[in-house]
Amino acid sequence: MTKIHDVLILGAGPAGTALASHLARSGFDVALADKKSFPRAKPCGEFLSPECRPYLQELGVENALLQQGTRRIHGMHLCSGEWRARGRFRSLTSAPYNDAGYAIRREILDTELLRAARARPEVTWLERHEFRTLLRDANGAVSGAVLRDQTGAERAVRAQTTIGADGVHSRVARQLGVQRQIRWLDRLALVAHFDGVVPAAEAEVHFLDNAYFAATTVDDGSFHLNLLIDRNALADRDGDLDAFVQEHIAAAPMLARRMSNAKRRGQWKGIGPLAFRTTKQTFAGGALVGDACGYIDPLTGEGIYFSLHGARSLANALAVARHEPHRAAAAMRGYEQERRREIAPRLRLAALLQRGIRHPFLVRSCLSALAAWPRLCDLLVNLTGDAVHPRDLLQPAFWRQWREAAPSS
Ligand SMILES: Cc1cc2nc3c(=O)[nH]c(=O)nc-3n(C[C@H](O)[C@H](O)[C@H](O)COP(=O)(O)OP(=O)(O)OC[C@H]3O[C@@H](n4cnc5c(N)ncnc54)[C@H](O)[C@@H]3O)c2cc1C
Repeated sequence: MTKIHDVLILGAGPAGTALASHLARSGFDVALADKKSFPRAKPCGEFLSPECRPYLQELGVENALLQQGTRRIHGMHLCSGEWRARGRFRSLTSAPYNDAGYAIRREILDTELLRAARARPEVTWLERHEFRTLLRDANGAVSGAVLRDQTGAERAVRAQTTIGADGVHSRVARQLGVQRQIRWLDRLALVAHFDGVVPAAEAEVHFLDNAYFAATTVDDGSFHLNLLIDRNALADRDGDLDAFVQEHIAAAPMLARRMSNAKRRGQWKGIGPLAFRTTKQTFAGGALVGDACGYIDPLTGEGIYFSLHGARSLANALAVARHEPHRAAAAMRGYEQERRREIAPRLRLAALLQRGIRHPFLVRSCLSALAAWPRLCDLLVNLTGDAVHPRDLLQPAFWRQWREAAPSS
């Protein structure tokens, strides 16, 4: 008889692997599938906000990542023309705090997370298995998926619960009909690593009129550059990608100086569109997690945190559903509510920032204000670094503590 797994997870990025580890620890029999073979690169800024650290510790991968050269990132430089403001990750209240984020290549991060999941005997790893279509039972509930392996053969993998963790262009979300593109934010990303740039312990964002660069030094000392640009601007370009990016670097003088001796290592990688939302994150027989639930744009560098947080929250809901079947529906609703509480306000803030950065005058005015009031800049990077939640800003107690916290140095 065909085996029926407790859970089938489609996609082995941070969301899928973290979920597999959490579920395996709770005794679930898990099948984890990805269309790629690992290690695999993934276009990403490769910056992990400070709030990822407790999740990495819980998953048992933080030490392995540090041993592989993960860099500590202590804050952010925000730049436009010759305007610059610097914000540090630091305690702004009395809450427990992580004073640094991390920078590490995705092939290392994702491989470590996968290694931790695969170390569990409860996890069956299906490498180079591409998800094709959802299977449904007689009541219409999802009951597994058809996967295609590297030989081209297709097979049905059955499961009590099926999870779409297949990233921003989630085929699972599309087949469920719950994915919507956010059209006003039609950006593409180009990413590449460079040698010959002096390493920095801060991430940097350089704003241009129709685009921005996000960059950081990663574990191997290379400088990882991301250009986020409106799709039309890229489509209308003359000439090759290097010339196109170089033209934009020249418009960001501080970045141009940093990269004056830079030499690209490897190919440019592109991805887009990036901005989607979903109308529902759970369905009969399963759920979505990570970018499959929706994503905005990497400006705030929070996607990995959202994935790790979502994976833990979903694992908790599935554990309740298994042990107390009469509470299963409430547990899954609770997963959606937790996402609305923790992640949705952060996505709204990211969308607001996205609207703001389209106005160069506004950006420069804000940067000069942030440079004049470094504590305000610290607050901004701690908001986007996930230590402060947008709803904290509505609490008078937060502002009292913020006033009393040590001044910025
Ligand atoms: C340019 C860019 C820069 C970014 N910078 C940052 C940053 O600095 N910090 C940050 O925190 N976040 C950043 N993000 C966001 C971050 O990359 C994502 O939020 C994060 O990777 C989401 O994890 P995930 O597991 O949901 O999806 P992914 O990491 O995308 O993993 C999805 C997995 O599903 C697999 N898959 C897809 N389709 C199928 C299929 N049909 N069958 C089987 N497997 C499939 C893929 O191979 C992949 O392994 C950035 C994103 C972009 C695009």
